[in-house]
Amino acid sequence: MPPLLTAAGDEFDKARITLYAYRHSYAQRHADAGTPVDVLRELMGHKTLGTTQTYYRVSEKRTRQAVDRLVTLQFDRHGSRLWDEAKALLDHEHTRMRIGQVAVPFGICAEPSNVKAGGHACPFRFRCLGCDHFRTDPSYLPDLRTYLDTLLRDRERLAAATELDAWARAEATPSEEEISRLRRLIRRVESNLDALTDEEREEIRQATSALRRSRAVQLGMPTLRPAAGGLPLEREA
Ligand code: SF4
Repeated sequence: MPPLLTAAGDEFDKARITLYAYRHSYAQRHADAGTPVDVLRELMGHKTLGTTQTYYRVSEKRTRQAVDRLVTLQFDRHGSRLWDEAKALLDHEHTRMRIGQVAVPFGICAEPSNVKAGGHACPFRFRCLGCDHFRTDPSYLPDLRTYLDTLLRDRERLAAATELDAWARAEATPSEEEISRLRRLIRRVESNLDALTDEEREEIRQATSALRRSRAVQLGMPTLRPAAGGLPLEREA
């Protein structure tokens, strides 16, 4: 075997090579080339996407490309596009985005005190759909749909609950305003995706896959059950 050189040009110690590591290299190269994770799962013979995802890391470059692609489809809480004309973000804008926002379960929060506290100090009890500091993009579409399911299920369950005082039931029941705002936001994201070409939608799908893989798990936030399936960006029947 010829000398193996690292990215810095040093020779890699061949004694440290294990055959099994080739599976990781194989997965990483496919991931960097943008192979969809479900295709990679097939190629690697895994039963679950979760197993496949442990075989590669999302590179900084790929994350940046994904952020660039999705930022043009960022929406405020009213469903209005925020960066209609946005092109690739400059370096300092990437840095600002990373430190100037934190993830919330179905989008992004840019409220300074909450960002400073790492997402643990929302001053508005996480009423994101009614907050000017909230924004979202198509990578959160599965989570928006899951949240809508949760609200609808909670509304039904609370309507049938007999063990609550009226005031407690009223406070715990999701408001019609929140439900209708969420439905409207989902429709806006979906209709913007519908307007894209097949090629653009595929780019968004790949960017979504990269970002959802790299997104940090948030602490101290209201939790949602994970969105079912892979990345269902398409409209539901
Ligand atoms: S309501 Fe949501 S978007 Fe607004 S400050 Fe709180 S966490 Fe941030």
